[in-house]
Amino acid sequence: MNALAATRHDFEIAGLEPVLARSVSVLGSTGSIGVSTLDVISHARKTYGAHTMPVEAITAHSNVAMLAKQAREIRPKLAVVGDEKLYGALKAELAGSGVEIAAGRAAVIAAAARPSDTVMVAIMGAAALEPALAAVARSATVALANKECIVAAGNVFHRALSNSSASVIPVDSEHNAVFQVLNGDGAQEVEKVTLTASGGPFRDWSLAQMAACTVEQAVAHPNWSMGAKISVDSATLMNKGLELIEAHFLFALPAAKLDVVVHPQSIVHCLVSYADGSTLAHLSSPDMRTPIAYALAWPRRISSPSRRLDLSQVGQLTFRAPDYDRFRCLGIALDCLRTGGIAPTILNAANEVAVEAFLHRRISFLDIPRIVESALNSSPNANTSVDTLEGVLAADARAREIAGDICRRVVN
Ligand code: NAD
Ligand code: MG
Repeated sequence: MNALAATRHDFEIAGLEPVLARSVSVLGSTGSIGVSTLDVISHARKTYGAHTMPVEAITAHSNVAMLAKQAREIRPKLAVVGDEKLYGALKAELAGSGVEIAAGRAAVIAAAARPSDTVMVAIMGAAALEPALAAVARSATVALANKECIVAAGNVFHRALSNSSASVIPVDSEHNAVFQVLNGDGAQEVEKVTLTASGGPFRDWSLAQMAACTVEQAVAHPNWSMGAKISVDSATLMNKGLELIEAHFLFALPAAKLDVVVHPQSIVHCLVSYADGSTLAHLSSPDMRTPIAYALAWPRRISSPSRRLDLSQVGQLTFRAPDYDRFRCLGIALDCLRTGGIAPTILNAANEVAVEAFLHRRISFLDIPRIVESALNSSPNANTSVDTLEGVLAADARAREIAGDICRRVVN
């Protein structure tokens, strides 16, 4: 190594040792966020040394081949497949690797309970709730990409947090941006938090065009490369509705202080407005490896392989109000935020059922808001507050049954 390189290397790691020594577990490692997280860790190892961020556990639902490949590359102590039936397949794939293996839902939760410093929660849907709570219960730093668990169980999550010394670092780009901008400021000082929305692939489509859209068109997001479920949520704007509820719980902000603006370029991720008329923004290229790197290194910063922002290339940043008539999911979610109680739990569960039915081509795109709204209307006492995990899981299961019945009626 020449003298200049050595100096640069020393400069890069000065004071970062405790951050670089952190162990990490990645729940949902085979998904879009999971893959990006392992990429950030690999990049950090190349930049700072092979011992950077040892990985305690990685988990996936069913993609055994990819999980095994990741395990051989990133060298976790444990690899878990959520589908119990795939234990034998994972065992065969990882024979002789020295990586411990496990299978089943309880094993995914147990992986979150293993002693890592940071747990990246990148499982899709409300299935992330119990693993996330297991990480909170042992006071880990929780890098929270999953939003459905906060939407479904915000109060339960809060109670669990107040009984532990866990830190939650949001990974969802808008919330990560708000977290960075607020930098500890309380909700009292803030007049308004505005989340930006790209508008999704149907931003400029008519309702008639949306009614006839295909699954392929719905998951083809113009700016972000993401899992199928969140891509559909971005196309309906339910994603932004879920994010308003997520912001409410993460930052203790009432609905009146939350807003959405459509920003097609996805460069500005949030705007935080203060009582004195100042508005602070957070900008970056639309690349999840930036918020992931921030969450893994918080409160420091590490090098990330993400695309750098070049505003002269971007050219224009434009903003417009969302269209609540064409994107009904946004208004439905906002109503649920205002209603409180288990309305967000029902909203999330019904949406998960409807999106899955759409992805399996059983319903049309515009059936999604219809089914979610109908499930909410068919659920008695949506404004009842539920503060226990069991209560939330029961409400979630009931809403899934109701939404499933409605889906079947739509199909027949
Ligand atoms: P994805 O579908 O690409 O990956 C999901 C991961 O979760 C996979 O590893 C899968 O094996 C695992 N999984 C799915 N169901 C499971 C179950 N029942 N039990 C255990 N594991 C299960 O999803 P994604 O796009 O990476 O999103 C993950 C989460 O992060 C979502 O909650 C999403 O809303 C949130 N998020 C994603 C992005 C993004 O850019 N992809 C951005 C912001 C927030
Ligand atoms: Mg987001």
